[in-house]
Amino acid sequence: MNTTPKNNEDPRLAGILDVIFKFAAGDLTARGTLLDDESALDGVMAGINILGEELEANVAESRRALQALSESEDRLRAIFDTVQEGIVLADAQTRRFKMVNNSICRMLGYSRDELLELGVEDIHPEEDVANVVRQFERQIKREISLAPGLPVKRKDGTVFYADINATPMQAKGGTFLVAVIRDITERKRAEQAEELASHDGLTNLYNHRTFYSLLQDEIIRTQRFKRPVSLLMLDIDHFKDVNDTYGHQAGDAILKDLSVLLETQARAVDRVCRYGGEEFMVILPETEATVAMQIAERLRAPVERQPFNIGGGKTVRITVSIGVATYPQQANALEGLIKAADVALYAAKEGGRNRVTRYEAAMAEKG
Ligand code: GH3
Ligand code: MG
Ligand code: MG
Repeated sequence: MNTTPKNNEDPRLAGILDVIFKFAAGDLTARGTLLDDESALDGVMAGINILGEELEANVAESRRALQALSESEDRLRAIFDTVQEGIVLADAQTRRFKMVNNSICRMLGYSRDELLELGVEDIHPEEDVANVVRQFERQIKREISLAPGLPVKRKDGTVFYADINATPMQAKGGTFLVAVIRDITERKRAEQAEELASHDGLTNLYNHRTFYSLLQDEIIRTQRFKRPVSLLMLDIDHFKDVNDTYGHQAGDAILKDLSVLLETQARAVDRVCRYGGEEFMVILPETEATVAMQIAERLRAPVERQPFNIGGGKTVRITVSIGVATYPQQANALEGLIKAADVALYAAKEGGRNRVTRYEAAMAEKG
């Protein structure tokens, strides 16, 4: 192609223009021939050739920088998409999603494109949206970072629970909330399984099995720190009559309310357990016999005073008997301590019920 203007006679000028037009067309490798005749035009040609070298080097440098940038962006993107937690970037004003990673797409069952059409309000159950938005606003203001246990709604409408940890970020285009979403369903399930295995289903108190391990722990601690531990064994008086008169359901309602009352009256360190049926054990850590007697009385007296609701507007009054024993003064092992509390309870029943009785060695000889 001849790009040289027609009315130009000097072939050197034509050569110069040729190189310039090639540069303009994107060919930075174009160079003109030098005649070494020391003319001005030859000087211009030399200058243009140097310019060509410079341009070529600059463009190569830019390409390398772009390549490096794109590689680093790829790596960041890979991290963003590989982490197990869901990550979203939401606009602080509109709460629409601006960036989402693979994990959150998988968690919610949306494609990336679908999710980028949605916002915070779309991925929570309707009844929770107001609360979620409140938490979002607090995260934007940096008042909180963690919104724990929020219900999150999948595309198919099912719900899971997640901890949402978020921080505001200033960037081109405004303020965004960067949120990390961790599915805690498994953790919740494990906690519930643990709760089921260690607690009694009716009263939610520690069950028989947990009672033994708690008492065992306490006795080991007692041996190490040379402090006593006391045990209360509590049994409802004439509970069979209550069941016979008002029915088993009424009995269950009483067991539940009694459990709440015992939990409320006991100290925070005390461990209230359902030993079985209508029998309860209360472990009193680092508690000697006289204090144990006072605490037992603090449990017995309010039971006597409280009318227990059994439904249908009816109430029933009950009383409890309590046996008290202390380790290591009155028993030298776990089984011995339980036995001593049992013997003391039996004595309380024998003595007329609705009372607290402390274990004495003489009782064992009688029994
Ligand atoms: P005492 O004063 O000698 O303890 O008399 P009692 O009637 O309480 O003793 P007994 O051991 O003869 O009866 C205990 C009753 O407790 C038997 C049963 O009807 C009732 N009971 C045990 N477990 C439950 C339960 O889970 N729910 C209900 N509703 N009743 C229970
Ligand atoms: Mg009993
Ligand atoms: Mg009883």
